[in-house]
Order: sequence, then C-alpha cells, then structure tokens
Amino acid sequence: MMNHSARFKLLALLTGITVSLATCLFLFTSADISRGEAGQSAAPKYVFIFLADGGGITHMEIVRMFNRHLYKEGLVIHDRIMKEGHVGLLTTHAADSLVTDSPAAGTALACGCKAKTGVVGMCEDGSVPKSVMELAKEKGMRIGLVTTATVYDASPAAFASHVSNRRLYGSIIDQYLKLEPDLLLGGGREQFLPRSQGGRRKDDSDMIASFKKKGYAYVSERQGLAQIKGGKLLGLFSLRDMSFELDRDKNTEPSLSEMTQAALRILPEGNRTGFVAFIENENTDSAGHMTDIASLIHAYREFDRAVGLAYEFYKKHPAETLLLVTSDHETGGLAFSGKPSFEDLKRIQSVRISLAKAAEILGQNPSAEAVDQLVAENFKGFVLQPELKESIIKKRTLGPPFTRNPTAAALSAMVASQTQAYWISSGHTNQPVFVAALGVGSERFRGYQDNTDFAKHLFALLDKKQ
Ligand SMILES: [Zn+2]
Repeated sequence: MMNHSARFKLLALLTGITVSLATCLFLFTSADISRGEAGQSAAPKYVFIFLADGGGITHMEIVRMFNRHLYKEGLVIHDRIMKEGHVGLLTTHAADSLVTDSPAAGTALACGCKAKTGVVGMCEDGSVPKSVMELAKEKGMRIGLVTTATVYDASPAAFASHVSNRRLYGSIIDQYLKLEPDLLLGGGREQFLPRSQGGRRKDDSDMIASFKKKGYAYVSERQGLAQIKGGKLLGLFSLRDMSFELDRDKNTEPSLSEMTQAALRILPEGNRTGFVAFIENENTDSAGHMTDIASLIHAYREFDRAVGLAYEFYKKHPAETLLLVTSDHETGGLAFSGKPSFEDLKRIQSVRISLAKAAEILGQNPSAEAVDQLVAENFKGFVLQPELKESIIKKRTLGPPFTRNPTAAALSAMVASQTQAYWISSGHTNQPVFVAALGVGSERFRGYQDNTDFAKHLFALLDKKQ
C-alpha cells in the first residue's frame, strides 16, 4: 500500500499535471485557434464521424510520440486531418454535471442539446430532438453505426435512439429496428438473443431474426464480415463489448479498421445520396477506466488506422466528403510527468496483455508464483514491488486514482511508477476534447465551441441537401 506521504506526493504531482494541462489548453486555444465564420459550403455527400470514446488530447499526444519513436510512423489524425483541415475544441460538460458521461455527451454531439447524465437522445427539458442520423435518413442517405462497444452502448445509441436511461437496451434495439440503419457493427449479442439461447433480454424475442426479416444479412465473425459487399448488415462479434486490441483474437474478431473497411465497402453501395458513418472505438474509454496505458495506446493506434482508411476515401472524393474526428470526453486525466524518456515508451510497448486480461488470468485467488509468472511473461522490463504483489494476493484495492480491480490496480501502479505516466482518476474528467475536421464544411468546426454546436453544424450542412 502507498503510505500517506507517498500518496500526498502523488496527489501534489497530479494537481500539477492538471494545472499544466489547463494552461496548455488555454495557450493552445488562444494562440492557435481562431473561430472562423461558418462558410457557405455545399452539403457533404459522405460524412464520417469518428469518436475515440474517452480519448483526450494527451492520449493522442502520447500515441503520436509512441508511433514516432518506436515505429517511425506518423499519426493520420495529426499529420493529415489536423494539418490539412481544421482543429477545434469542444466543451464536454453535461446539463447536470461538470463531468459528463457518454450518454449526455453523445446526445450533445448527435442531437445538439445538453442532456442529463445517463440520458440518451433526450434534451434536458425532456423533449425528444431529432438526431443527425435521423435527419440523414430523411434525406435518403445511408447510415451506419460501427463501434467496439455493444451496438446499443450510449454513444452509438445517442445517434439513433431516444431513451431516458442508457440501460434500456431493449428499447434502443427496438428503435434501431424501426430506423433501420444500413450498417450496425459491434458487440452486444446477448441483448439480441432470446433467453432460451442464453441471451439477457427481458423477453424471449430473437432480435437477430427480426433484423433478418427486415432484409439484413447477419454475421458474427471476422471472416463472414469480409464477404459482405452491400445491402443492410447486422454484425455482432461478441456477447458484450469487443476485446481490447491488445487481446483481440485476430482470427475471429474484426478490428475497428476491418469494420471501417466493411463500412467503406457497404455504405456507398447503390445509392446516389451518400452516407453518414459513425465509427467509434470504445476501448480508449474502457482502457482509461482500467487505468491501463498500454491498452489505451493500442486502442488509439487502431482508431487512427481506421481514420486512415476514411482519409484514403476522402482523397478520392475531396469535394464531397466531410471527415470529423473527435471524442465525447477524456477519461483518466492521463499524462506523463517528471523526466520520462523513450525507454519508458519502450517499456509500455513490451506489455503484452490488457490489465483486464491480466486480472482474468490470475482469477480470484492467485498464488505468488502465478503473479510472478504473469509479470515475467507479459510485463517484461517491469518489477512488481512487494507491497503491490501483496495487494494482488490479498485482493486489496489501492483506491484512487487506480481502477477498483485489485490486480489491475496494482499492475497499473507498477506501470505508472516505472514509466512516469500517471492517472488522476479511473473516471471521466472535464477536459475539453479536440475536433479535427477535413473536407466539405470542415471550417465550421474551428474554434472553442460547445459540444452541442457539433450537431448543429451537421444539421446545417445536411439541411442543404434536397
Ligand atoms: Zn467511460
């Protein structure tokens, strides 16, 4: 366990990080961004909304350095979208809290109004607004929702449903069935299957059968996805959330970029009015909640690969495409501090599994030998301090800022102490998020704006469509 003086030092350090970050954001905002007048651009035919759930500015910067120093690679979001397009900042607060959750932030981005936390697609006053996807559908565009979360998770749900509580999964799925998005890819099979087939629905409906009846093809594995060329598609690749990129079974589960490839194949098919694609990596948020920097970096790298595919599409249709990359909020308050070196990045690169997977492997009553073996095999270059090892064996939680799971918390503390990458929380923070915008109408997204403006710009652009 961390003693009081160590904890005080950590808190003091973290407070310092937060203040410096706020200062950086202020300078960034005032020096580099000027709010432009909304241009008179035409309606985009192809719209991409990429969302790194829980992905903050420092997350992107850490991944940028990671790519540059360890792989001699760039980051599409930074090198292409931000450099060739426009950069803005968005507020993230909810109607009832300075710190938002995904339902409220998703509602702001999708519907253009502030919502209370926990509420999906409904404004603070209880009214039910139209979402960007609903407007796109009215305009005859094809629409797609792609996520590594369950397809009915709050962020995609805010774009295509309206419920008073994010956990009303059955209602969200019913509303999807009514709206008929052309593409629905992600996890969450358990809320589609009837109880008799191991599902967790409150009724015995087989929602996969219901979607098939409406003309959807259905796939549940990576190989099946590669064979679909067009039409309407429901793809559910796991019972609940899809795996962290670091743990993913590459034979059975598609990556976010493979799902994006499928979207690029399927959505343009047979229509002259274009499409709106929402593409989310939820695992950037999940990794933050687990205070797991290695999983976060690999999730963000995969997110950037997916953005890269849309960028290639944009290059073929620059006069007709709008490509947006943003987030709903930051998770974890992650930042390097002290004097970290590239060796610290290398040590993070050596981590082989997510902290969630490590906790799963060790189970409820791990022996000291099992803990040693796990660290030796999957966290090369790290030394697990005796007090942290004891907290795993005795199932003692470390408390804030680490995640509640004792194994994940101890391993997270080990990684933080030996890389100088620190967290202030295992929850969301109130940091503003960036929006990177490229293509038709992208100038509207410059400047420091409210997150509800994001949807308002999309409404204004799509409204220009006949
Ligand atoms: Zn979250």
